[in-house]
Amino acid sequence: MSSTIVIGAGISGLSFAHFSKKPCIVLEKEETAGGLCRSVIQNGFTFDASGHFLHLHHGWTERLVRKLLDDNLAAIRRNSAIFTNRTFVPYPFQANLYHLPTKIKKECLLSFIERPSPVNADANFLQWSHATFGSGITRHFMQPYNEKLWTVSARRLTADWTAPFVPKPSLADLIEGALTDRTKQFGYNTRFFYPAHGGIQALVNALGRKKNIRYNTNVRAINIKNKYVETNAGDRLHFDTLVSTQPLYQLLDSINGLPAAITTAREKLDWNSVTCINLGVRRATRAPVAGGRHWVYFPEKEYPFYRAGVYSNILPSLAPRGCASFYIETSRRPGKRASLEELYERARKGLLKCGFLGAADRIETIQFADIPCAYVIYDKHRAAAVETIQKFLAAHNIHSIGRYGAWKYSFMEESITNAATLADREGQDEGEIVGILNNPSP
Ligand SMILES: Cc1cc2nc3c(=O)[nH]c(=O)nc-3n(C[C@H](O)[C@H](O)[C@H](O)COP(=O)(O)OP(=O)(O)OC[C@H]3O[C@@H](n4cnc5c(N)ncnc54)[C@H](O)[C@@H]3O)c2cc1C
Repeated sequence: MSSTIVIGAGISGLSFAHFSKKPCIVLEKEETAGGLCRSVIQNGFTFDASGHFLHLHHGWTERLVRKLLDDNLAAIRRNSAIFTNRTFVPYPFQANLYHLPTKIKKECLLSFIERPSPVNADANFLQWSHATFGSGITRHFMQPYNEKLWTVSARRLTADWTAPFVPKPSLADLIEGALTDRTKQFGYNTRFFYPAHGGIQALVNALGRKKNIRYNTNVRAINIKNKYVETNAGDRLHFDTLVSTQPLYQLLDSINGLPAAITTAREKLDWNSVTCINLGVRRATRAPVAGGRHWVYFPEKEYPFYRAGVYSNILPSLAPRGCASFYIETSRRPGKRASLEELYERARKGLLKCGFLGAADRIETIQFADIPCAYVIYDKHRAAAVETIQKFLAAHNIHSIGRYGAWKYSFMEESITNAATLADREGQDEGEIVGILNNPSP
């Protein structure tokens, strides 16, 4: 009988196991499932490893999530903003210039009208942003925000990740958004979903039910010639098909005897790291935190975080009565990070400065989630390196999937759809998924 091994019980590995009709075994190095979709409940606060919200674009993924979570699912209309010049600009920045000082608004509008002609596919992000939005929107939001998030220069970043993530309003939309305080919603996530109870962990728990998962099992080495994985316990497990969801560079580092071309491609992979600081706070007032917004982007250097979210504005049940709960995201180059105390202190000062925290609010609990591999860097090397590596792996019947396995900027829904597609392609799911995939929502 052929054997399939899955590395990782995150949403990708569990989705593959869910859709696979052939038996498979999931090896997970931690003692619980979830990967980045883990939640913890601490002092009555429910925290994720940074807010994890379901942006569902296909009818079949929405049906799947509804089936898995039954009635434990809330649908929420997005309320997000950018904090800049000491004011909130509704997301997306480029479509809501009305809220900015007149001088900046004028600069953004004029430079949009006078923007340079469209650029080639190989233009860097800075060139793309100038050609798409003009120099004003680039200078006041696109460049500072993206350099803070990705931790590399906008000249090094490519623009091939922007299509689903960066809304491109027309001139008419831009003008309307500069003249009026309108409510029109733009972007990929105007409505999102989240478990009513239990954090995002509720979804992975439902996906992982009745699956064959071996916890505390770290795949340390992979022998591609004799087709087995070796675990921390020293076990050798044979595979015909290996599905890996760990970061691509870690997968390669565990394979012995890589060809030189693959080692070279591996060296081209780059990424950033993120620390998420979760805070539970007893509020001194009843006024809504951040005006009730769900999450806010911070392009300015004086704030150490690139995004701050308020779980309790999304669902009040995520925090005890009279309390608010936050997730604060800071990014860095991989490697050494500041101490958690230092990160917390900087974040606390930033939150006080922008008014998310009041001087009389009391911090009740703090929780940290460190994400060593958080965002894959899109530079001119990424696409070719990933193609070379994936071809090599496929020749050995190894499939590297998920946000970090496929080495891309993607969300949970894509993890589910890619895993389902692979399960289908592997012939492990006779027909069912083909039916689902051919029947997208209206
Ligand atoms: C800051 C941040 C915020 C995000 N917010 C959202 C959001 O709001 N909405 C959204 O849809 N997506 C969001 N995402 C993306 C989302 O986290 C990913 O798309 C998704 O979690 C990827 O799941 P995965 O299973 O592919 O990988 P992972 O979650 O990384 O799972 C991989 C699993 O493999 C295990 N593993 C690794 N190495 C080994 C080994 N050698 N042996 C055994 N097990 C191993 C790990 O422990 C882990 O459990 C966010 C990501 C980040 C970084």
